[in-house]
Amino acid sequence: MKPKKVDAIIQSVSPKVNQKRRHEMFNLLAELFPICRSLTGEGARKTLEILSREIPLQMHFFPTGMRCFDWEIPEEWNITSAFIKDQSGNTIVDFADNNLHVVNYSEPISGWFSLDELKPHIFTLPERPQSIPYVTSYYHRQWGFCMAHRDFLALRDEKYYVKIDSSLSPGNLIIADAVLPGMVEKEILLSCYFCHPSMANDSLSGVVLVAHLYQELARQERYYGYRFLFVPETIGAIVYLSQHKDSIRRHLHAGFVVTCVGDPGPFNYKQSRHGHHAVDRATENVLKFGGFPYRIRPFWPGGSDERQYCSPGFNLPVGSLMRSIYGEHPEYHTSDDNLNFVTEEALGESLEVYLLVLNALQGNGLYRNTNPYCEPQMSKRGLYPKWGTQKARDEEIQRRMWILNYSDGEHALIDIAEKMNVSIFSLIDTARELQETGLLKRIG
Ligand code: ZN
Repeated sequence: MKPKKVDAIIQSVSPKVNQKRRHEMFNLLAELFPICRSLTGEGARKTLEILSREIPLQMHFFPTGMRCFDWEIPEEWNITSAFIKDQSGNTIVDFADNNLHVVNYSEPISGWFSLDELKPHIFTLPERPQSIPYVTSYYHRQWGFCMAHRDFLALRDEKYYVKIDSSLSPGNLIIADAVLPGMVEKEILLSCYFCHPSMANDSLSGVVLVAHLYQELARQERYYGYRFLFVPETIGAIVYLSQHKDSIRRHLHAGFVVTCVGDPGPFNYKQSRHGHHAVDRATENVLKFGGFPYRIRPFWPGGSDERQYCSPGFNLPVGSLMRSIYGEHPEYHTSDDNLNFVTEEALGESLEVYLLVLNALQGNGLYRNTNPYCEPQMSKRGLYPKWGTQKARDEEIQRRMWILNYSDGEHALIDIAEKMNVSIFSLIDTARELQETGLLKRIG
């Protein structure tokens, strides 16, 4: 979607994601799409192996049965095949056609079942009769199939042969991360979840975006470090938080749960539980002055892993910048969240917007005016602009005066940008110049 009204300064700093990178993002997503993933198992391993080509991931293994807060790591789930056949031997449903056909974490089963016995094990979407729903049962042992409601209505035989060749056994849950250090110890967290099977926008678009963010951010100068985190949703974030309880509270400057960024819908920013943290305000500042169609959504305790990061014991400043929000669009958790639902253009634009937001956060310095007693004399430091139109010179002087006045160690650049109603990017270079003259000192 094209921006409507773009602030000139944002246009000048906006990273341009070229066609090659857009292709690469889409191709990576298409390569990962067919894999049957889950919280654990071979699909998770294979996914992280492929991602390791893009980003130097460290793998961390946590065994079945390990306790983390109120949770326990489940058994590892693997599956090789699953099908339903009718009395004539025709295959009605086959896992090989679409991995959504099996309830994720189904226990193994085989045998003949009457249609009435089978029905409670079949999940469909009557309101979307052509689509296969995505259903999981991680913590309650059962088996089941998912199919198009249209096909379900056509079941006529008295009995059916069912087989799910799966296993549930002690194993490991894997979390992967990578770090890019900054100048200070504080980090920005980019968290995504890789546990969904063939789902393009929910889950995979975030995984691909985070991998490509790593590649872009590795080339940039960084005030804050970055932590790139790949987890199975919910349990993975809980395990991570239980392992890094104190350090994450000490080191986290801001964070995002990255998901639902591949469809061409307008942007939706789900605020952190704080609602007014720098992460929330910098994101809104970029969306507003970047001219992108967007909506700001106050935090609610549903959704993805922000539920864990923003649980009251942690209350971390973690938001989620998405396009079409999970749970709100009809393709959500169905076979229609597929490679036709995501586009190269949307993935590329989401990468650009994330880079803008992250650069805004990196540039959102907290400064102290080293000369706070009356105004410093600008002319003797060469701070009166000599070039440009009168208007441009006046604006530059205004920016310097606002920054010098409010840099009292309590107002960061985002506070000043909001007071002036300007893009934070219009202040970042000015603050840097003032720092070079010794009039400002960055303290946060
Ligand atoms: Zn989901």
